[in-house]
Amino acid sequence: MTNQRARIAECSFSIQGEGITAGVPAIFIRLQGCSVGCTWCDTKYSWDTSGGREVTLDGLVDEASAFPCRRVVITGGEPLESSLFPTPVEALKAQGFTIEVETSGTLTPTVEVDQWNVSVKLSESGVSQTKRINPEAIEEFLRLGAWWKFVVLGRSDVLEVLQLAERFTLPRERILLMPEGVHREDVLERSLWVVDECKRYGYRYSPRLHILLWGARREV
Ligand code: SF4
Repeated sequence: MTNQRARIAECSFSIQGEGITAGVPAIFIRLQGCSVGCTWCDTKYSWDTSGGREVTLDGLVDEASAFPCRRVVITGGEPLESSLFPTPVEALKAQGFTIEVETSGTLTPTVEVDQWNVSVKLSESGVSQTKRINPEAIEEFLRLGAWWKFVVLGRSDVLEVLQLAERFTLPRERILLMPEGVHREDVLERSLWVVDECKRYGYRYSPRLHILLWGARREV
């Protein structure tokens, strides 16, 4: 291992709140820094590359290893933008961790992990198409067997998901629709029509368990 340094927003132990492994206990390593800029982002504190706290790679692996869990979710921010990524992946793999990575899919992956959760942004994110759609990265994530988690605010977003799925031949059974919302009531209300859309198109529904259980609190 090395004493490579980077900034993280947090390292905490909880359950995965979203996606295909929702409900599974996991350690969350939130790397600092994101330049994507989604208008509805619920982790804006992680955007600033000088925010959070500095860690060494060794210190971070020690921190994660102290929790009674051997599953890590590396998230952000946009983790693939971090100066620390992908170094922790190899270091954590060597310690026997199973690794998931949450990404916007805007950068091409250069490492293999156990599970890629790719949340390609839709136009309602307010991010320009050239920033949020990187065909080369999407093709590579496809090759790596990623899961595709789309945040939806309204039914028109689902039509955009259909277009992206057709354009990039995303496997239907690996597509998840997740309602946007940082309040329990909003997530529950949107979940009703999101489930209808999942039934209509054969997609999976993703909950936001951390919002349903704890609201918009950090490190829970
Ligand atoms: Fe927030 Fe993720 Fe969008 Fe970055 S990519 S702005 S962290 S939702």
